[in-house]
Amino acid sequence: MKIARFETFLVPPRWLFLRVETDEGVVGWGEPVVEGRAATVRAAVEELMEALIGADPLRIEDHWQTLTKGGFYRGGPVFASAVAGIDQALWDIHGKVRGAPVHELLGGAVRERVRVYSWIGGDDPAESAEQATAQVEAGLTAVKMNATGPFRFIETRAQVAATVRRAEVVREALGEERDVALDFHGRVSPPMAKRLMAALEEVAPIFVEEPVAPELGHAIAGLIAASPIPIATGERLFSRWEFKPVLDAGVAVVQPDLSHAGGISEVRRIAALAETYGAALAPHCPLGPISLAASLQVAFATPNFLIQEQSLGIHYNVDNDLLDYLVDRSVFSFEDGTIARPTAPGLGIDVDEAAVREASARGHRWRNPIWRDADGAFTEW
Ligand SMILES: [Mg+2]
Repeated sequence: MKIARFETFLVPPRWLFLRVETDEGVVGWGEPVVEGRAATVRAAVEELMEALIGADPLRIEDHWQTLTKGGFYRGGPVFASAVAGIDQALWDIHGKVRGAPVHELLGGAVRERVRVYSWIGGDDPAESAEQATAQVEAGLTAVKMNATGPFRFIETRAQVAATVRRAEVVREALGEERDVALDFHGRVSPPMAKRLMAALEEVAPIFVEEPVAPELGHAIAGLIAASPIPIATGERLFSRWEFKPVLDAGVAVVQPDLSHAGGISEVRRIAALAETYGAALAPHCPLGPISLAASLQVAFATPNFLIQEQSLGIHYNVDNDLLDYLVDRSVFSFEDGTIARPTAPGLGIDVDEAAVREASARGHRWRNPIWRDADGAFTEW
């Protein structure tokens, strides 16, 4: 069997899908995208796929090595995301050829259900408590929110108090038996991260995410020494080599994104690396259905899995949402805040190709916001 052809589809709200077909008519889907840079990743996918036309789709590891290391200039979000989507599509094909869901090819299921969390509050956490209550009513047992809006290098006492108050109100809405994750979104400076984490101790979040921007990862060890709150990071780290320093620093939870960090092959290895540090895996996934399906396949086969992000109703999903490109939407049904183990071959989803083609005719031009401080200077979004 050989890889015969491929197509990419730029679909709203902000995604890129990849369809790979073999000479025997087996089709695999992947989701290679960097949010806001979909067209750039599309170009990288087209360049990388040149080497795969005519190749055996089942030699996934060999392709992963060649795609990742075969270019003298390597690494970074664009290449790693392009490889991630290709890797997902090849695993989808592999599963369909073997008649098995991918998690069975990864060693078999280690759990029957996967706990998920939903986003609340959008970019501005103002209405978070109301939304937390709605998620509890929908059966979710965990939510995530941005802890702050734009946050200055050293913030006022009032801003710190407002941040803590919002988190407290959400904690009150959730009760003691559910969890809230607080995403600092790389917006917070190292000194303010230290101050905020101390102030948030009583809220007892399941974790604080990206306490500082990824290039300031060397500041994480100090934050861990100063706070009992578990720290999670990794949505902007792209390989096991990039995760090793934050694991050395002592993070509790790694959050590789299945569409950014080299796909199923590499996230599986990042999880195993994390296991050697006593750390857990919580795949990042604010993206589309193929990315979530790939995340779930890893989650079902990974012993040190903690919780799965998913994007249903997320603030980015304005024109289209998570379920719009699926034939059978029940594969992502929640029950008691969990998703059941998928049993269909490959990634376990049936992509609605007609809907994808129709939406790709519209496409999208999603870009992340650029935030500015009161004095007009750039500030982290
Ligand atoms: Mg985040």
